[in-house]
Amino acid sequence: MTSILPDAGPSHVAAPSNSATLRPYAQRCKLCGTENDAAPIAICENCLGPLEPLYPANRRLPDRATIAARPQSMWRYREWLPFEGDPVASLDTGFSPLIDAPRLADKLGVARVWVKNDAVSHPSLSFKDRVVSTAINAAIAFGLDTVGCASTGNLANAVAAHAARAGLASWIFIPEDLEIGKIIGTAVYGPNLVRIKGHYDDVNRLCAQLADRFGWGIVNVNLRGYYGEGSKTMAFEILEQLGWRTPSAVVAPMAGGSLVTKLGKGFKEFIDAGLVTGNSPRVYGTQASGCAPIVRLWERGDSTLVPEIPNTIARSIAIGNPADGPFAAKVMRESGGRGQHVSDEALVAGIRLLAETTGVFTETAGGVTVAGAVALAEGGHFHSDDEIVLCITGNGLKTTEAVSDVLPAAPVIAPKVRDVAALVAERTNR
Ligand SMILES: *Cc1c(COP(=O)(O)O)cnc(C)c1O
Ligand SMILES: [Zn+2]
Repeated sequence: MTSILPDAGPSHVAAPSNSATLRPYAQRCKLCGTENDAAPIAICENCLGPLEPLYPANRRLPDRATIAARPQSMWRYREWLPFEGDPVASLDTGFSPLIDAPRLADKLGVARVWVKNDAVSHPSLSFKDRVVSTAINAAIAFGLDTVGCASTGNLANAVAAHAARAGLASWIFIPEDLEIGKIIGTAVYGPNLVRIKGHYDDVNRLCAQLADRFGWGIVNVNLRGYYGEGSKTMAFEILEQLGWRTPSAVVAPMAGGSLVTKLGKGFKEFIDAGLVTGNSPRVYGTQASGCAPIVRLWERGDSTLVPEIPNTIARSIAIGNPADGPFAAKVMRESGGRGQHVSDEALVAGIRLLAETTGVFTETAGGVTVAGAVALAEGGHFHSDDEIVLCITGNGLKTTEAVSDVLPAAPVIAPKVRDVAALVAERTNR
């Protein structure tokens, strides 16, 4: 099979006008099975359940060698992404590093740990680049000239960046109290950025009304079915980067619960396609204790999510009424994983532990992942032969306020060897 993608080096930027051959798949309701033609609609008219792209059962799937020969981006898995024809925008997102973390493995008492490092995702330094890459192609294919989102920060960065590059207008809605790095890291791309008085859940409710009213493609509202599929590529990459085999467990943070749900789906799809060896990994989902509705749903073991009012510094994952919460809880339960929540103090310690053991600086959500893994290890949920992947979903330079007060201040001294010698002596004696 020949490569179906053009050579997607960084300089390959297709214009939206190429979209004639790009067609999003039709969708089907995840709850009642009702089918819908491809459209910027995410909710079933019959039962209000979420719609998901419907993949043609007879489509031709590539083998390992074919995939491995394609450009290193998330689009090398395009048969598992919801389009027929060639994607036209954001072709170079994905394929972030999977890095070995032996010092963290020692700390957790397991055989191996790898960090899936979306802190260096292209272009906006979080895993939200993946979901926006699929959503923006859907928007272009549907002929929409404006995209938008309700965001806790990283999605705002990603939509603004990808829209700017594709030449689309964007309207971005965030809670008013986001970190300065997330606000500046959105505004710089020239979107219409609006801060809303309220929590994310208020912003999301507003955006649900705006999509229809203005005919916009709100990536996580009316394009949500296409958006969510982008998250699966994190699972695909982990499997390929491990040498086409499964780890024994993965740990990932949860906001709306989409990433954990789609990790479960992605692992299953590659196992079903016969591309990988090994058992389905245990999926562990982590949240901050100040906003942990999905973990608490998992703990109760029923299926009714109880919304919460967020109170945590982990703002990027502070969603009190998560749309995919029940699906994420199901993935954790059926894979043999668990939910784990951690305090704000623990997540700050998690950020520092990851930095000091692996040289990766993550934001608050990554701190929740690492602290969650530490808590799971302490709770006896990992085994000495476990091989664990930690999903690090965002970059620490966006949330420096989380650690600025706890890191030691650097001494200011004169440019004199004597002064350095005094410091060295002081620290060696310590
Ligand atoms: C959005 C986000 C998540 C989780 O997102 P889901 O809504 O659960 O898919 C995790 N980490 C970071 C940094 C995020 O921005
Ligand atoms: Zn339905």
